[in-house]
Amino acid sequence: CGIIGYIGERKACNVLVDGLKRLEYRGYDSVGIVTEEDGKLYIRKGAGKIDELKEKLGLLEMPGKRGIGHTRWATHGIPNDINAHPHTDCTGKIAVVHNGIIENYIELKDELLRKGHKFKSDTDTEIIAHLIEDALKDFNNFEDALRYALLRLKGSFALGIIYTHDREHLYFVRNESPLVLGIGHGEMFAASDIPAFLPYTNKAVFLDDGEYAVVTKDSFVVKDLKTGQVKEKKVHEINWT
Ligand code: GLU
Repeated sequence: CGIIGYIGERKACNVLVDGLKRLEYRGYDSVGIVTEEDGKLYIRKGAGKIDELKEKLGLLEMPGKRGIGHTRWATHGIPNDINAHPHTDCTGKIAVVHNGIIENYIELKDELLRKGHKFKSDTDTEIIAHLIEDALKDFNNFEDALRYALLRLKGSFALGIIYTHDREHLYFVRNESPLVLGIGHGEMFAASDIPAFLPYTNKAVFLDDGEYAVVTKDSFVVKDLKTGQVKEKKVHEINWT
């Protein structure tokens, strides 16, 4: 299973499919990609292997210069097209990919169901998009809503998150599942493992548990999920190929 994210000047889908291929060694049963252009999300996903889905879903014909890709190793909900990531909220404006397990997803799902949220999949992941949507009612800032929602999660998660109204950013979160940022020139990457972005940059920033990153094409900032405080991060130069 794996996550890859891209924001920059290239066609995002090309980088994402390439990155997912490089993460294939980690194993997976489903594939999905979300990209954004002009404030609209494009999502294509399904059960199966990257090479076959690339043609079938037209993964290399998605618009946009920012996006997130995912390979799934199903833990909650069978491997099928609906359970494949990304998952969205009710408005379709927030998309989330996730590696790991949300241990308290049943109680959170019950709470969201009572509030009127409708779910499409059987995954533990889908509740995350809805939790953020719900928090946005109380916070007018996306990042504050995100932090509030994510602090309610118990379990392991590496997350990639994209929000239509927040055109310049991608968000990545790490808790007990790996996630690394790749720092380019006028472009940024994030992935479960370095080989996914090594053809584009050898500068890497390792997220630690309980940290999240706010990434634009020209900058990144890593913060503590609990306090919201900025963390000093070392940029590592990777010298293997
Ligand atoms: N628990 C999530 C699911 O079953 C994520 C699985 C993964 O790590 O790919 O959809």
